[in-house]
Amino acid sequence: MGDTLDRRIWHFAKNGRYSVKSGYWAALEYKRLEELSVGSLAGPSSPSLKLWKHLWKLKVPQKILHLLWRLAHNLLPSKEMLFRRRVTQETSCFRCAAVSESTLHALVGCDVSMQVWEALDFPSEFLLLNLNDAGFWVDAAWDLIPPVKQSLFAFTVWVLWNERNGVLFGFQPTPPGILVQRAKDYDDEFTRSLVVNHRSLSSPIHDVKWHPPTDGFFKLNVDGAADLATGDRGAGVIVRDSQGNLVGALAMRAPSRISVLATELYALKNGISFALDASLVPLVIESDSLLAVNMVNCDEECLAAKGGLVDGVRRLLNNHVIVSVSHISRHANKAAHRIACFSLRDQSLSCWLDEGPLWLMDAVYDDRSETSVSG
Ligand SMILES: [Zn+2]
Repeated sequence: MGDTLDRRIWHFAKNGRYSVKSGYWAALEYKRLEELSVGSLAGPSSPSLKLWKHLWKLKVPQKILHLLWRLAHNLLPSKEMLFRRRVTQETSCFRCAAVSESTLHALVGCDVSMQVWEALDFPSEFLLLNLNDAGFWVDAAWDLIPPVKQSLFAFTVWVLWNERNGVLFGFQPTPPGILVQRAKDYDDEFTRSLVVNHRSLSSPIHDVKWHPPTDGFFKLNVDGAADLATGDRGAGVIVRDSQGNLVGALAMRAPSRISVLATELYALKNGISFALDASLVPLVIESDSLLAVNMVNCDEECLAAKGGLVDGVRRLLNNHVIVSVSHISRHANKAAHRIACFSLRDQSLSCWLDEGPLWLMDAVYDDRSETSVSG
């Protein structure tokens, strides 16, 4: 049994691959081994297992669960950790010159991080906890955080770790106030997309309206189209701001005769690249293909023929400026649908910025007026 566990952990580390479910099972196995070796089933439960039970229920994007899991298992590459692995010669924090940059120093102890947690009104005990072991810290912190703030906790860890990496890679440090707002916005926007999704999945009447994103965010809608007679496939991509204005759109051919699902995934992948290239971020994403959305949101290895496309989309989704990928009704995806159909008529790649052609602006105005009427 010990063999199995070793192999699995080695497998994560070696490939950088990770699946939430296998992480969960590794935690369970670890707990069982620990109990067997102690010879008692009544001992204190392992922090990683207890923690994992909490995290499992948390409604945040997979990439953020993944980060928390790596944090709790001390797998984040802080300078201290790289020093231990002999990747670096010294451990001092490159932001505040503290003696040692442990993972928890970066996320909690460093001045900027401390200010962000305080501004977000997290319990102060939480900042005074022993900062030696990330697993114990997350676990103990969890007991102090009110349930309504758990997802904000997760998004804050995400924002702070990205900020730390940004500075390490040469970006200007972001003022704490902006980091605070970023964590709040991500949390609000994601929670809102869950509500919208839940409503559209649980109610027999789908939400037929398109909704603009929150202030400061962009929304990407994508769609695929197929001409069954010719075998042609096309992708439609549109990005709008919080006023519902078009900021960018793209019509392009997809490879001929690929499946409908592959066309949807192709549209998703090219749409995300387009938005990232044009810096239309932070970004929330919508597609009317439930299957495509589920495939890219799930963490399991994809063995289907579309595996390469799915992996390609997931790699793009790892970018911290992407908040969510949600499913919407086809009626709420009219603008992207029109562009996809246009791409079947027009061979060349077309791109519009700020102002689109008339046949498209119709749909854009429609979406905008529907949302302003409904408030
Ligand atoms: Zn520091």
